[in-house]
Amino acid sequence: MKNSIFTLITALLVFTTTANAQETEATRLLKEQNKEFVPEIIKFGDNVWFAVGHDVSNVAMIEGETGIILVDAGQSPVRMEALRQKFRQITDKPIRAILITHGHGDHFGGIQAFLAEGDNPQVWGRKGALGENTGFNIEARAGKMAGLTYANTRGARQAGIILPDSIHINNGVAPRPDKKRTMFTRGEETVEFSPTHFFTGEREKIEIDGISFELVAASGETYDNMYIWMPEQKVLFTGDTYYKSFPNLYTIRGSQYRDVQSWYQSIEKMLGEDAEYLLPGHTRPIVGKEKVKESLTDYRDAIKFVFDKTIEGINKGMTPDQLVAYVKLPEHLASKPNLIEYYGRVDWSVRSIFTGYLGWFDGNPVNLNRLTPKTEAEKMAQMAGGEDKLRANALKAFEDGDFQWSAQLSDYLLALNDTDKEIIELKADALMEIAKTMVTATGRNYMNSYAIQLKQKTGNLEKK
Ligand SMILES: [Zn+2]
Repeated sequence: MKNSIFTLITALLVFTTTANAQETEATRLLKEQNKEFVPEIIKFGDNVWFAVGHDVSNVAMIEGETGIILVDAGQSPVRMEALRQKFRQITDKPIRAILITHGHGDHFGGIQAFLAEGDNPQVWGRKGALGENTGFNIEARAGKMAGLTYANTRGARQAGIILPDSIHINNGVAPRPDKKRTMFTRGEETVEFSPTHFFTGEREKIEIDGISFELVAASGETYDNMYIWMPEQKVLFTGDTYYKSFPNLYTIRGSQYRDVQSWYQSIEKMLGEDAEYLLPGHTRPIVGKEKVKESLTDYRDAIKFVFDKTIEGINKGMTPDQLVAYVKLPEHLASKPNLIEYYGRVDWSVRSIFTGYLGWFDGNPVNLNRLTPKTEAEKMAQMAGGEDKLRANALKAFEDGDFQWSAQLSDYLLALNDTDKEIIELKADALMEIAKTMVTATGRNYMNSYAIQLKQKTGNLEKK
């Protein structure tokens, strides 16, 4: 009897250990974040409905005297049509206005579903206040003006568009985009959209259908972000200047510098409103003055800490690599659930602040004249005792579980021969292993997508 219980316990332990071995802590955490995207329409006060989890971003409906006002319009017209029908079960009053928090396609891409009702609502957006070369949706327009298309390729990797459901968990602060129609494939249309009404100052009070709104300049993810404050209802719509994750101070798909200093100043302004309900562009709302205050304070402190510490390190002559080791969030902030690096990452932010102010040159004159990757790889191979030895080291690093080093050695070998199938596969496998340990969904999706594209390149995808 004793023996059989012992056997049973051993079997259970083995089973548990195996299950744990398959799922890393990062994977568990990221899956946990999916709770933020469970579809629900939550009512606040008498006349505010907040739809979370119906698309990549959240959408609100506010009931006025004779009509309704929306805040944001999602990314996918198909998903927004489904949400429109749900809203229509609540009220059939016509749409008077749509307030777009900022010019990212995931907040206005689905607008046709609402405009199709034919009531010609006012559409409000913010024109950033940074001189001529700015305005609504400047991030996408700047790329278009430059003829830049590659950020779309990187964006699709970051969103994990090509990933099978088995390895795609979420986008950090959002569920999977609608595969049929995403901001990354709309091209022209994303850029051409324009609001009918613009807010250009620091703060503007407007009244629509008997409801008071204050539009407030709040640059963060974009230079055209505004937050929308409803003073009577104590409701604050943050746009993408706040969501539950360490903020994406730098986006790995690539964009112009995101103004980190403005970002924490925007959070500071939000704190000044003393809101009861904080309704973010992504993730679920935060309810209660104390909770709102605590979340915003942590957020402000975290961004300001990263910014100030980076500038301090720069002034000491540190390079980006040194800064990454120097700037670590203090424990009391790093441990906060709303600051987990689901979407943005501290080290990437540090590098971005450096580049944003000083450009690519890290200050070390060795880097003014670097060897080409091929020459460096030849010298590394020579130092390792030949290309075969270098290859053996790359393979052994993988076997030892040192996946980053394996991937870095693979890059030397690919610099020597970029059609080396075994090494392309090795690099792809190493990236997929690293991805499992990343809680930051953007990086994780990018690694997995890149790995699959490498495998497609070798034509060996079916082998796995
Ligand atoms: Zn967004």
